[in-house]
Amino acid sequence: MSPDRRTLLCAGLGATAALASPIGPLTTPARGAAPERPPINGDVSGDADARAAVSADFGRIVRAQPQMVVRPKSSADIAKVMQWAASRKLKVAARGHGHSIYGRPLAEDGVVIDMTSIDAIADSGPDMTTVGATGQTGRTRIVAGAGATWSDILDAALARGLTPPVLTNYLGLTVGGTIAIGGIGASSSRYGLQTDNVLELQVATCDGRELTCSPTRNADLFDAARAGLGQCGIITRATLYLVRAPERVRRWQLYYPDLASLTSDQQRVLSEGRFDQLQGAVLPDGNGGWRYQLDGAIFYDGDPPDQNAAVVGLSDIRSAAQIVDLSYREDAHAFAKIEALRRSRGHWSNPQPWLFTFLPTSSAEQVAQEIIGKLTGDDIGPFGRITFYPLRSEAFRSPLVRMPEETTAFVFNVVRIPASDDASRIERMIADNRAIYERIRDAGGVLYPVSALPMSPDDWQRHFGPAWPRLRDAKRRYDPNNLLTPGYNVIQA
Ligand SMILES: Cc1cc2nc3c(=O)[nH]c(=O)nc-3n(C[C@H](O)[C@H](O)[C@H](O)COP(=O)(O)OP(=O)(O)OC[C@H]3O[C@@H](n4cnc5c(N)ncnc54)[C@H](O)[C@@H]3O)c2cc1C
Repeated sequence: MSPDRRTLLCAGLGATAALASPIGPLTTPARGAAPERPPINGDVSGDADARAAVSADFGRIVRAQPQMVVRPKSSADIAKVMQWAASRKLKVAARGHGHSIYGRPLAEDGVVIDMTSIDAIADSGPDMTTVGATGQTGRTRIVAGAGATWSDILDAALARGLTPPVLTNYLGLTVGGTIAIGGIGASSSRYGLQTDNVLELQVATCDGRELTCSPTRNADLFDAARAGLGQCGIITRATLYLVRAPERVRRWQLYYPDLASLTSDQQRVLSEGRFDQLQGAVLPDGNGGWRYQLDGAIFYDGDPPDQNAAVVGLSDIRSAAQIVDLSYREDAHAFAKIEALRRSRGHWSNPQPWLFTFLPTSSAEQVAQEIIGKLTGDDIGPFGRITFYPLRSEAFRSPLVRMPEETTAFVFNVVRIPASDDASRIERMIADNRAIYERIRDAGGVLYPVSALPMSPDDWQRHFGPAWPRLRDAKRRYDPNNLLTPGYNVIQA
């Protein structure tokens, strides 16, 4: 989908006007004939409400209305729909829970496949191979439909005392939706991205095939499906590694007077491996300034770790430190409280022009300081934050994941949660995101593709850099007509 075919809600065309725009019910039928529909067992709907429900995503910035919404009963249904759509040159997008920010799961005039019906989870026996993030043997795996959420998977794994090594902060995301992008979480320094912890995928392609892929089978598709922005196939099933779950988590939130002291301590605790999870943020203080936060956690069973040993020698404002003890499950679901608060204040349903990036460690503090210096609390919103913390990028091994060319990098996310849906303001924030992205790119940083900013095919080619030929070649092989996941605008229409 070229950007001009999508409606930018912030460009003055409000949701109501876009929803009211008349689009035919299904693919144009011959006079008197029933509307055409793909031959599947699942549901196919051309109903205005069904189409409207999938014509925007969580970001509420871009709108594009499909001709039909498919709710498949099986992966075979998905493959059939894709073949059917390909023979008609219709665009196709898979949709998890639509938590994208900038129209990525939309398909103007095309077919949206609602993956949430493909959510079965099955246990699998122990995996005795040594492939995987940690090279451990004897780990266990789980097989999940791509529409299952990470919350579903965590529940199933915890019932066996296990957990996925990397959980996203928000567990309402789908397996297929994060594997298509990367899937970063607080344990990524140790285990990489969720894409690094996949043993095998089943992928449906535009020619109607369902292919099993892994490092040793259809490896080109395996590499293109993981963090390939849904360009080469629709993931229908994933076999994922699990590791032993700790019983409990002790979490330290430390506060600093400035970015320099935060950055210095973050690097220190990362290099010393003090915490099992390390994150951090720059938060609006409500008085026009910022609070600088380090957030570290240690897993434990039995007695908790000493509360002073983990923070000895750090330069935080110790009187402001907060320590909490939670069960592993409570900790994994901690974001639900933030979600409830944002919902109760109405901020959850405003447009969300987020920008997610990685900065090289060598310039992270300087570039972040420069960007933060130009932002105000209003640019972020009272519940927004600038996520800022270092991680070991060595753990990131999926070929299409881009990281700065250093062994460690800093996550730098501008999580804007505006207090209003004022269109001109949102438009300014998106333009600002683009300017910030260019500054970061010039400094050797890279985009994490969950971001609200216009990206051209040339931008994507530059983003993927040396990995571009791998994605381009797989795209030619598995989606030669460029029909899949048009919302990214990766290939010129
Ligand atoms: C509140 C919130 C918190 C978040 N926290 C994190 C976080 O901690 N870490 C992180 O990495 N990300 C995070 N994200 C971003 C998240 O990874 C993306 O929004 C992603 O889109 C997943 O959401 P989803 O499963 O609803 O997928 P969707 O938004 O529905 O889809 C995402 C993209 O993947 C494609 N897609 C979906 N399913 C498939 C499939 N089965 N096969 C192929 N392509 C598919 C879609 O077409 C679309 O392009 C967060 C987002 C939100 C809104």
